[in-house]
Amino acid sequence: MDNHEITMEKIVSLCKRRGFVFQSSEIYGGQAGAWDYGPLGIELKKNIQNAWWKEMTQLHDNIVGLDAAIFMHPRTWEASGHVANFSDPLVDCKDCKMRFRADDESQISKENVEKRICPKCGGELTPPRSFNLMFKTHIGPAEDTASILYLRPETAQGIYVNYKNIIQSNRMKIPFGIAQVGKAFRNEIVTKNFIFRTCEFEQMEMQFFVKPGDDDKFFEYWRGQRWEFYKKYGIRENKLRWYHHEKLAHYAKDAYDIEYEFPMGFSELEGIHNRTNFDLTKHTEYSGKDMSYIDQDNGNEKYIPYIIETSAGLTRNVLMFMCDAYEEQNLAKAGEPEDYRTVLHFHPKIAPVTVAVLPLMKKDGLAELAKDIQNELKEEFVTDYDQAGAIGKRYRRQDEVGTPFCVTVDYDSKEDNTVTLRFRDSMEQVRIPRSELTARIKQEIKNYKRV
Ligand code: ATP
Repeated sequence: MDNHEITMEKIVSLCKRRGFVFQSSEIYGGQAGAWDYGPLGIELKKNIQNAWWKEMTQLHDNIVGLDAAIFMHPRTWEASGHVANFSDPLVDCKDCKMRFRADDESQISKENVEKRICPKCGGELTPPRSFNLMFKTHIGPAEDTASILYLRPETAQGIYVNYKNIIQSNRMKIPFGIAQVGKAFRNEIVTKNFIFRTCEFEQMEMQFFVKPGDDDKFFEYWRGQRWEFYKKYGIRENKLRWYHHEKLAHYAKDAYDIEYEFPMGFSELEGIHNRTNFDLTKHTEYSGKDMSYIDQDNGNEKYIPYIIETSAGLTRNVLMFMCDAYEEQNLAKAGEPEDYRTVLHFHPKIAPVTVAVLPLMKKDGLAELAKDIQNELKEEFVTDYDQAGAIGKRYRRQDEVGTPFCVTVDYDSKEDNTVTLRFRDSMEQVRIPRSELTARIKQEIKNYKRV
Protein backbone atom coordinates (compact mmCIF):
# COMPACT_ATOMS: atom_id res chain seq x y z
CA MET A 1 0.00 0.00 0.00
CA ASP A 2 1.07 3.55 -0.79
CA ASN A 3 2.25 5.27 2.41
CA HIS A 4 0.08 8.25 1.65
CA GLU A 5 -3.21 6.42 1.30
CA ILE A 6 -5.92 7.11 3.81
CA THR A 7 -6.26 4.69 6.74
CA MET A 8 -8.54 4.69 9.74
CA GLU A 9 -5.48 5.08 12.00
CA LYS A 10 -4.58 8.34 10.26
CA ILE A 11 -8.12 9.68 10.67
CA VAL A 12 -8.23 8.71 14.35
CA SER A 13 -4.86 10.30 14.95
CA LEU A 14 -5.72 13.54 13.16
CA CYS A 15 -9.03 13.72 15.00
CA LYS A 16 -7.30 13.47 18.34
CA ARG A 17 -4.32 15.69 17.50
CA ARG A 18 -6.43 18.56 16.18
CA GLY A 19 -9.38 18.29 18.55
CA PHE A 20 -12.09 16.74 16.43
CA VAL A 21 -12.82 13.60 18.45
CA PHE A 22 -11.45 12.25 21.73
CA GLN A 23 -11.93 8.90 23.39
CA SER A 24 -14.63 9.10 26.07
CA SER A 25 -13.26 9.13 29.65
CA GLU A 26 -9.75 8.68 28.33
CA ILE A 27 -8.06 9.29 31.70
CA TYR A 28 -9.83 6.19 33.03
CA GLY A 29 -8.71 4.05 30.13
CA GLY A 30 -11.62 4.98 27.88
CA GLN A 31 -15.26 3.96 27.60
CA ALA A 32 -16.00 1.60 24.72
CA GLY A 33 -18.73 2.66 22.34
CA ALA A 34 -18.60 6.37 23.22
CA TRP A 35 -16.62 9.34 21.90
CA ASP A 36 -16.34 13.02 22.76
CA TYR A 37 -16.42 15.76 20.13
CA GLY A 38 -13.78 18.46 20.62
CA PRO A 39 -13.84 22.10 19.47
CA LEU A 40 -13.42 21.34 15.76
CA GLY A 41 -15.50 18.15 15.90
CA ILE A 42 -18.52 19.92 17.31
CA GLU A 43 -18.33 22.62 14.62
CA LEU A 44 -18.09 19.95 11.93
CA LYS A 45 -20.98 17.95 13.39
CA LYS A 46 -23.15 21.04 13.73
CA ASN A 47 -22.45 22.07 10.14
CA ILE A 48 -23.47 18.64 8.82
CA GLN A 49 -26.57 18.71 10.97
CA ASN A 50 -27.45 22.25 9.80
CA ALA A 51 -26.94 21.30 6.15
CA TRP A 52 -29.27 18.33 6.58
CA TRP A 53 -31.82 20.35 8.53
CA LYS A 54 -31.84 23.08 5.92
CA GLU A 55 -32.19 20.54 3.12
CA MET A 56 -35.10 18.80 4.81
CA THR A 57 -37.10 21.58 6.43
CA GLN A 58 -36.19 24.85 4.72
CA LEU A 59 -35.99 23.49 1.19
CA HIS A 60 -39.13 21.36 1.45
CA ASP A 61 -42.34 23.27 2.21
CA ASN A 62 -44.08 20.17 3.50
CA ILE A 63 -41.54 19.07 6.13
CA VAL A 64 -41.48 20.34 9.70
CA GLY A 65 -39.15 19.64 12.61
CA LEU A 66 -39.52 17.92 15.95
CA ASP A 67 -37.38 17.26 19.00
CA ALA A 68 -38.98 14.43 20.94
CA ALA A 69 -37.76 13.13 24.30
CA ILE A 70 -35.30 10.27 24.52
CA PHE A 71 -37.41 8.73 27.29
CA MET A 72 -40.58 7.24 25.85
CA HIS A 73 -43.34 5.11 27.33
CA PRO A 74 -42.06 1.50 27.33
CA ARG A 75 -45.13 0.36 25.38
CA THR A 76 -43.71 2.31 22.43
CA TRP A 77 -40.99 -0.28 22.06
CA GLU A 78 -43.37 -3.19 22.39
CA ALA A 79 -45.51 -1.70 19.63
CA SER A 80 -42.53 -1.01 17.37
CA GLY A 81 -41.30 -4.58 17.70
CA HIS A 82 -38.02 -3.58 19.35
CA VAL A 83 -38.68 -5.52 22.57
CA ALA A 84 -39.33 -8.72 20.61
CA ASN A 85 -37.14 -8.33 17.53
CA PHE A 86 -34.32 -5.87 18.02
CA SER A 87 -31.60 -8.36 18.67
CA ASP A 88 -28.41 -9.86 17.30
CA PRO A 89 -27.49 -13.57 17.46
CA LEU A 90 -24.40 -13.88 19.66
CA VAL A 91 -21.92 -16.61 20.44
CA ASP A 92 -19.49 -16.49 23.39
CA CYS A 93 -16.20 -18.29 23.81
CA LYS A 94 -16.24 -20.26 27.04
CA ASP A 95 -12.46 -19.97 27.32
CA CYS A 96 -11.31 -16.52 26.24
CA LYS A 97 -14.74 -14.89 26.81
CA MET A 98 -14.68 -13.21 23.39
CA ARG A 99 -18.10 -12.50 21.94
CA PHE A 100 -19.02 -12.53 18.24
CA ARG A 101 -22.05 -11.70 16.14
CA ALA A 102 -22.91 -15.06 14.59
CA ASP A 103 -24.41 -13.41 11.50
CA ASP A 104 -21.40 -11.24 10.70
CA GLU A 105 -18.72 -12.99 8.66
CA SER A 106 -16.23 -10.19 9.24
CA GLN A 107 -16.22 -11.37 12.89
CA ILE A 108 -16.64 -15.12 12.62
CA SER A 109 -17.10 -17.63 9.79
CA LYS A 110 -20.25 -19.75 9.40
CA GLU A 111 -18.07 -22.83 9.84
CA ASN A 112 -16.74 -21.65 13.20
CA VAL A 113 -20.29 -20.97 14.38
CA GLU A 114 -21.50 -24.40 13.23
CA LYS A 115 -18.53 -26.26 14.70
CA ARG A 116 -18.61 -24.02 17.78
CA ILE A 117 -14.90 -23.21 17.61
CA CYS A 118 -13.60 -19.83 18.75
CA PRO A 119 -11.69 -18.13 15.91
CA LYS A 120 -9.41 -16.37 18.41
CA CYS A 121 -8.30 -19.13 20.80
CA GLY A 122 -9.83 -22.36 19.44
CA GLY A 123 -11.94 -22.73 22.59
CA GLU A 124 -15.55 -23.91 22.72
CA LEU A 125 -18.33 -21.52 21.72
CA THR A 126 -21.83 -21.32 23.15
CA PRO A 127 -24.73 -21.87 20.72
CA PRO A 128 -26.06 -18.58 19.25
CA ARG A 129 -28.48 -16.76 21.51
CA SER A 130 -30.49 -13.66 20.96
CA PHE A 131 -29.24 -10.45 22.56
CA ASN A 132 -31.48 -7.38 22.66
CA LEU A 133 -29.70 -4.20 21.63
CA MET A 134 -31.80 -1.80 23.69
CA PHE A 135 -30.38 -0.27 26.85
CA LYS A 136 -32.77 -0.85 29.69
CA THR A 137 -32.90 1.21 32.84
CA HIS A 138 -35.39 2.24 35.52
CA ILE A 139 -37.15 5.47 36.32
CA GLY A 140 -38.43 6.41 39.75
CA PRO A 141 -37.53 5.08 43.20
CA ALA A 142 -38.47 1.40 42.71
CA GLU A 143 -36.70 -0.96 40.34
CA ASP A 144 -39.77 -3.00 39.43
CA THR A 145 -41.19 -3.96 36.05
CA ALA A 146 -43.51 -0.95 36.11
CA SER A 147 -40.51 1.39 36.16
CA ILE A 148 -38.66 -0.02 33.11
CA LEU A 149 -37.38 2.55 30.66
CA TYR A 150 -35.48 2.02 27.43
CA LEU A 151 -33.03 4.45 25.90
CA ARG A 152 -34.41 4.97 22.41
CA PRO A 153 -32.58 2.88 19.79
CA GLU A 154 -33.87 5.12 16.96
CA THR A 155 -35.41 8.58 16.82
CA ALA A 156 -38.21 7.51 14.46
CA GLN A 157 -40.73 6.40 17.09
CA GLY A 158 -40.81 9.87 18.68
CA ILE A 159 -42.03 11.13 15.32
CA TYR A 160 -44.71 8.47 14.88
CA VAL A 161 -46.30 9.02 18.29
CA ASN A 162 -46.44 12.78 17.58
CA TYR A 163 -47.66 12.73 14.00
CA LYS A 164 -51.28 13.50 14.89
CA ASN A 165 -50.23 16.37 17.19
CA ILE A 166 -48.33 17.85 14.29
CA ILE A 167 -51.21 17.45 11.83
CA GLN A 168 -53.48 19.25 14.26
CA SER A 169 -51.15 21.99 15.44
CA ASN A 170 -49.57 22.78 12.08
CA ARG A 171 -52.42 21.91 9.71
CA MET A 172 -50.23 19.48 7.77
CA LYS A 173 -51.76 17.60 4.86
CA ILE A 174 -50.53 14.37 3.37
CA PRO A 175 -48.00 14.08 1.81
CA PHE A 176 -45.83 15.68 4.49
CA GLY A 177 -42.75 14.91 6.54
CA ILE A 178 -41.31 15.34 10.03
CA ALA A 179 -37.57 15.71 10.57
CA GLN A 180 -35.65 15.08 13.75
CA VAL A 181 -32.02 14.93 14.86
CA GLY A 182 -31.05 13.36 18.13
CA LYS A 183 -29.25 10.77 20.15
CA ALA A 184 -29.96 7.08 19.88
CA PHE A 185 -28.48 4.22 21.89
CA ARG A 186 -27.75 0.62 21.00
CA ASN A 187 -25.89 -1.94 23.02
CA GLU A 188 -23.66 -2.85 20.07
CA ILE A 189 -21.48 -5.78 20.90
CA VAL A 190 -18.69 -4.97 18.58
CA THR A 191 -17.98 -1.27 18.43
CA LYS A 192 -15.16 -0.81 16.00
CA ASN A 193 -13.89 1.48 13.29
CA PHE A 194 -13.77 4.56 15.49
CA ILE A 195 -17.06 6.49 15.42
CA PHE A 196 -18.59 4.31 12.69
CA ARG A 197 -20.43 2.04 15.12
CA THR A 198 -20.91 3.22 18.67
CA CYS A 199 -23.36 2.58 21.50
CA GLU A 200 -24.27 6.25 21.81
CA PHE A 201 -24.71 8.03 18.49
CA GLU A 202 -26.81 10.60 16.70
CA GLN A 203 -29.30 10.14 13.92
CA MET A 204 -30.85 12.50 11.39
CA GLU A 205 -34.18 11.00 10.47
CA MET A 206 -37.05 12.17 8.31
CA GLN A 207 -40.36 10.35 8.17
CA PHE A 208 -42.54 11.14 5.17
CA PHE A 209 -46.26 10.32 5.45
CA VAL A 210 -47.99 9.37 2.20
CA LYS A 211 -51.21 7.86 0.92
CA PRO A 212 -50.99 4.07 0.45
CA GLY A 213 -50.32 3.49 -3.23
CA ASP A 214 -48.17 6.63 -3.50
CA ASP A 215 -45.42 5.01 -1.46
CA ASP A 216 -43.35 3.58 -4.33
CA LYS A 217 -43.27 6.96 -6.06
CA PHE A 218 -42.11 8.80 -2.94
CA PHE A 219 -39.63 6.07 -2.10
CA GLU A 220 -37.93 6.74 -5.44
CA TYR A 221 -38.17 10.48 -4.94
CA TRP A 222 -36.41 10.34 -1.56
CA ARG A 223 -33.74 7.99 -2.83
CA GLY A 224 -32.91 10.60 -5.45
CA GLN A 225 -33.00 13.47 -2.99
CA ARG A 226 -30.68 11.84 -0.48
CA TRP A 227 -28.10 10.93 -3.12
CA GLU A 228 -28.10 14.51 -4.43
CA PHE A 229 -27.59 15.85 -0.89
CA TYR A 230 -24.22 14.17 -0.57
CA LYS A 231 -23.18 15.36 -4.01
CA LYS A 232 -24.22 18.92 -3.17
CA TYR A 233 -21.87 18.95 -0.19
CA GLY A 234 -18.94 17.79 -2.24
CA ILE A 235 -18.85 14.05 -1.53
CA ARG A 236 -17.19 12.22 -4.42
CA GLU A 237 -19.86 10.26 -6.23
CA ASN A 238 -17.52 7.38 -7.07
CA LYS A 239 -17.20 6.73 -3.31
CA LEU A 240 -20.96 6.20 -2.97
CA ARG A 241 -23.07 3.26 -4.04
CA TRP A 242 -26.51 1.75 -3.46
CA TYR A 243 -27.15 -1.45 -1.58
CA HIS A 244 -30.57 -3.00 -2.11
CA HIS A 245 -31.80 -5.11 0.82
CA GLU A 246 -33.09 -8.52 -0.11
CA LYS A 247 -33.80 -9.60 3.46
CA LEU A 248 -36.08 -6.92 4.87
CA ALA A 249 -36.71 -5.80 8.43
CA HIS A 250 -40.08 -6.84 9.89
CA TYR A 251 -41.61 -3.43 9.14
CA ALA A 252 -40.28 -2.81 5.65
CA LYS A 253 -41.59 -3.26 2.12
CA ASP A 254 -38.43 -2.02 0.43
CA ALA A 255 -35.06 -0.75 1.63
CA TYR A 256 -31.92 0.72 0.11
CA ASP A 257 -28.77 1.88 1.84
CA ILE A 258 -26.44 4.55 0.58
CA GLU A 259 -23.01 3.11 1.23
CA TYR A 260 -19.75 5.02 1.36
CA GLU A 261 -16.31 3.57 0.72
CA PHE A 262 -14.71 4.02 4.16
CA PRO A 263 -11.10 2.87 4.68
CA MET A 264 -12.48 -0.51 5.81
CA GLY A 265 -14.59 -0.83 2.65
CA PHE A 266 -18.11 0.08 1.51
CA SER A 267 -20.42 0.39 4.53
CA GLU A 268 -23.83 1.82 5.30
CA LEU A 269 -24.15 5.56 5.68
CA GLU A 270 -27.89 6.04 5.43
CA GLY A 271 -30.97 3.88 4.97
CA ILE A 272 -34.04 4.75 2.90
CA HIS A 273 -36.93 2.55 3.90
CA ASN A 274 -40.53 2.04 2.90
CA ARG A 275 -41.89 1.25 6.39
CA THR A 276 -45.48 0.81 5.12
CA ASN A 277 -48.21 1.47 7.68
CA PHE A 278 -46.62 -0.97 10.11
CA ASP A 279 -45.63 1.44 12.87
CA LEU A 280 -48.81 3.52 12.91
CA THR A 281 -50.95 0.38 12.80
CA LYS A 282 -49.05 -1.04 15.75
CA HIS A 283 -49.33 2.21 17.72
CA THR A 284 -53.09 2.18 17.07
CA GLU A 285 -53.22 -1.36 18.40
CA TYR A 286 -51.03 -0.80 21.46
CA SER A 287 -52.24 2.66 22.51
CA GLY A 288 -55.90 2.27 21.63
CA LYS A 289 -55.71 5.65 19.83
CA ASP A 290 -56.73 5.78 16.20
CA MET A 291 -53.67 6.82 14.20
CA SER A 292 -55.45 7.07 10.86
CA TYR A 293 -55.52 10.18 8.73
CA ILE A 294 -58.71 11.81 7.53
CA ASP A 295 -58.36 13.45 4.14
CA GLN A 296 -60.74 16.38 4.33
CA ASP A 297 -60.04 17.41 0.76
CA ASN A 298 -61.23 14.03 -0.53
CA GLY A 299 -64.57 13.32 1.06
CA ASN A 300 -63.06 12.52 4.47
CA GLU A 301 -61.32 9.46 3.13
CA LYS A 302 -59.73 7.64 6.05
CA TYR A 303 -56.53 5.60 5.98
CA ILE A 304 -53.36 4.82 7.91
CA PRO A 305 -50.54 6.51 5.97
CA TYR A 306 -47.51 4.73 4.61
CA ILE A 307 -44.15 6.05 5.75
CA ILE A 308 -41.01 6.60 3.73
CA GLU A 309 -38.05 7.00 6.07
CA THR A 310 -34.65 8.50 5.38
CA SER A 311 -32.39 7.57 8.28
CA ALA A 312 -28.79 8.77 8.40
CA GLY A 313 -26.23 8.58 11.16
CA LEU A 314 -25.00 12.07 12.05
CA THR A 315 -21.90 10.82 13.82
CA ARG A 316 -21.32 8.32 11.02
CA ASN A 317 -21.60 11.25 8.61
CA VAL A 318 -18.87 13.05 10.57
CA LEU A 319 -16.58 10.09 9.88
CA MET A 320 -17.64 9.99 6.24
CA PHE A 321 -17.00 13.71 5.69
CA MET A 322 -13.59 13.38 7.38
CA CYS A 323 -12.63 10.40 5.22
CA ASP A 324 -13.87 11.98 2.02
CA ALA A 325 -12.05 15.24 2.69
CA TYR A 326 -8.71 13.68 3.65
CA GLU A 327 -5.76 13.89 1.30
CA GLU A 328 -2.00 13.67 1.64
CA GLN A 329 -0.96 15.71 -1.33
CA ASN A 330 2.51 15.82 -2.83
CA LEU A 331 3.27 19.42 -3.69
CA ALA A 332 6.67 18.76 -5.30
CA LYS A 333 7.13 19.49 -8.97
CA ALA A 334 8.70 16.83 -11.20
CA GLY A 335 12.31 16.20 -10.22
CA GLU A 336 11.96 17.80 -6.78
CA PRO A 337 12.03 15.85 -3.53
CA GLU A 338 8.62 14.84 -2.16
CA ASP A 339 6.81 17.46 -0.11
CA TYR A 340 3.52 16.34 1.38
CA ARG A 341 0.78 18.35 2.99
CA THR A 342 -2.23 16.87 4.75
CA VAL A 343 -5.34 18.68 3.64
CA LEU A 344 -9.05 18.24 4.34
CA HIS A 345 -11.08 19.29 1.31
CA PHE A 346 -14.29 20.05 3.21
CA HIS A 347 -17.02 21.92 1.42
CA PRO A 348 -16.80 25.47 2.89
CA LYS A 349 -20.28 25.09 4.39
CA ILE A 350 -19.12 21.95 6.21
CA ALA A 351 -15.62 23.06 7.25
CA PRO A 352 -15.35 23.70 11.02
CA VAL A 353 -13.54 27.00 10.48
CA THR A 354 -14.30 29.09 7.40
CA VAL A 355 -11.64 31.78 7.58
CA ALA A 356 -8.33 32.05 9.43
CA VAL A 357 -6.70 35.44 9.83
CA LEU A 358 -2.91 35.43 10.00
CA PRO A 359 -0.68 38.46 10.60
CA LEU A 360 2.64 38.09 8.81
CA MET A 361 4.41 39.34 11.97
CA LYS A 362 3.25 39.90 15.51
CA LYS A 363 4.93 43.28 15.72
CA ASP A 364 4.51 46.73 14.16
CA GLY A 365 0.75 46.74 14.63
CA LEU A 366 0.10 43.80 12.28
CA ALA A 367 -1.39 41.63 15.04
CA GLU A 368 -3.80 44.42 16.02
CA LEU A 369 -4.85 44.97 12.43
CA ALA A 370 -5.37 41.23 11.89
CA LYS A 371 -7.48 41.02 15.07
CA ASP A 372 -9.56 43.91 13.86
CA ILE A 373 -10.17 42.16 10.54
CA GLN A 374 -11.02 38.94 12.33
CA ASN A 375 -13.57 40.75 14.51
CA GLU A 376 -15.24 42.08 11.40
CA LEU A 377 -15.37 38.62 9.77
CA LYS A 378 -16.70 36.99 12.94
CA GLU A 379 -20.16 38.40 12.33
CA GLU A 380 -20.44 36.33 9.15
CA PHE A 381 -18.13 33.33 9.47
CA VAL A 382 -16.55 30.97 11.96
CA THR A 383 -13.03 32.35 12.20
CA ASP A 384 -9.67 31.47 13.65
CA TYR A 385 -6.62 33.58 14.42
CA ASP A 386 -3.06 32.32 14.40
CA GLN A 387 0.13 34.31 14.84
CA ALA A 388 2.49 31.55 15.92
CA GLY A 389 5.34 30.41 13.66
CA ALA A 390 6.29 30.82 10.02
CA ILE A 391 3.47 31.69 7.64
CA GLY A 392 3.96 28.51 5.56
CA LYS A 393 3.55 26.36 8.69
CA ARG A 394 0.42 28.24 9.62
CA TYR A 395 -1.10 27.61 6.19
CA ARG A 396 -0.37 23.90 6.61
CA ARG A 397 -2.02 23.87 10.03
CA GLN A 398 -5.17 25.36 8.52
CA ASP A 399 -5.04 22.96 5.55
CA GLU A 400 -4.90 20.05 7.96
CA VAL A 401 -8.22 21.02 9.57
CA GLY A 402 -9.82 22.00 6.28
CA THR A 403 -10.07 25.80 6.61
CA PRO A 404 -10.99 26.89 3.06
CA PHE A 405 -9.77 30.51 3.30
CA CYS A 406 -6.82 32.24 4.94
CA VAL A 407 -6.45 36.01 5.12
CA THR A 408 -2.90 37.24 5.51
CA VAL A 409 -2.17 40.71 6.84
CA ASP A 410 1.23 42.23 6.00
CA TYR A 411 3.03 45.58 5.91
CA ASP A 412 1.28 46.63 2.69
CA SER A 413 -2.06 46.05 4.43
CA LYS A 414 -1.19 48.90 6.77
CA GLU A 415 -0.46 51.21 3.89
CA ASP A 416 -3.19 50.44 1.37
CA ASN A 417 -5.82 48.41 3.26
CA THR A 418 -5.42 45.33 1.09
CA VAL A 419 -4.97 41.73 2.27
CA THR A 420 -4.01 38.40 0.75
CA LEU A 421 -6.77 35.84 0.41
CA ARG A 422 -5.42 32.30 0.09
CA PHE A 423 -7.43 29.31 -1.08
CA ARG A 424 -6.92 25.95 0.58
CA ASP A 425 -7.43 23.63 -2.40
CA SER A 426 -5.52 25.47 -5.13
CA MET A 427 -3.20 27.32 -2.68
CA GLU A 428 -3.61 30.31 -4.97
CA GLN A 429 -3.46 33.78 -3.48
CA VAL A 430 -5.16 36.98 -4.53
CA ARG A 431 -4.67 40.51 -3.28
CA ILE A 432 -7.93 42.30 -2.55
CA PRO A 433 -9.12 45.39 -0.65
CA ARG A 434 -10.13 44.63 2.91
CA SER A 435 -13.55 46.15 2.21
CA GLU A 436 -14.28 43.41 -0.35
CA LEU A 437 -13.32 40.46 1.86
CA THR A 438 -16.73 39.45 3.20
CA ALA A 439 -18.46 39.65 -0.16
CA ARG A 440 -15.64 37.78 -1.91
CA ILE A 441 -15.62 34.94 0.62
CA LYS A 442 -19.39 34.61 0.40
CA GLN A 443 -19.16 34.43 -3.37
CA GLU A 444 -16.39 31.82 -3.19
CA ILE A 445 -18.51 29.70 -0.84
CA LYS A 446 -21.49 29.92 -3.17
CA ASN A 447 -19.47 28.94 -6.23
CA TYR A 448 -17.35 26.29 -4.52
CA LYS A 449 -16.68 23.17 -6.58
CA ARG A 450 -14.41 20.44 -5.39
CA VAL A 451 -11.58 19.87 -7.83
P1 ATP B 1 -26.09 -1.38 10.81
O1 ATP B 1 -26.51 -2.39 9.76
O2 ATP B 1 -24.83 -0.61 10.47
O3 ATP B 1 -26.14 -1.89 12.21
P2 ATP B 1 -28.76 -0.48 10.76
O4 ATP B 1 -29.17 -0.96 9.42
O5 ATP B 1 -29.21 -1.17 11.97
O6 ATP B 1 -27.19 -0.25 10.78
P3 ATP B 1 -30.53 1.72 10.91
O7 ATP B 1 -31.30 1.16 12.03
O8 ATP B 1 -31.13 1.74 9.56
O9 ATP B 1 -29.10 1.04 10.86
O10 ATP B 1 -30.03 3.17 11.33
C1 ATP B 1 -29.95 4.25 10.43
C2 ATP B 1 -28.60 4.87 10.43
O11 ATP B 1 -28.16 5.16 11.75
C3 ATP B 1 -27.50 4.00 9.84
O12 ATP B 1 -27.46 4.13 8.44
C4 ATP B 1 -26.26 4.57 10.49
O13 ATP B 1 -25.80 5.71 9.76
C5 ATP B 1 -26.76 5.02 11.84
N1 ATP B 1 -26.41 4.04 12.87
C6 ATP B 1 -27.07 2.90 13.17
N2 ATP B 1 -26.45 2.25 14.16
C7 ATP B 1 -25.38 2.99 14.50
C8 ATP B 1 -24.34 2.85 15.47
N3 ATP B 1 -24.30 1.83 16.32
N4 ATP B 1 -23.37 3.80 15.53
C9 ATP B 1 -23.40 4.87 14.69
N5 ATP B 1 -24.35 5.05 13.77
C10 ATP B 1 -25.33 4.13 13.66
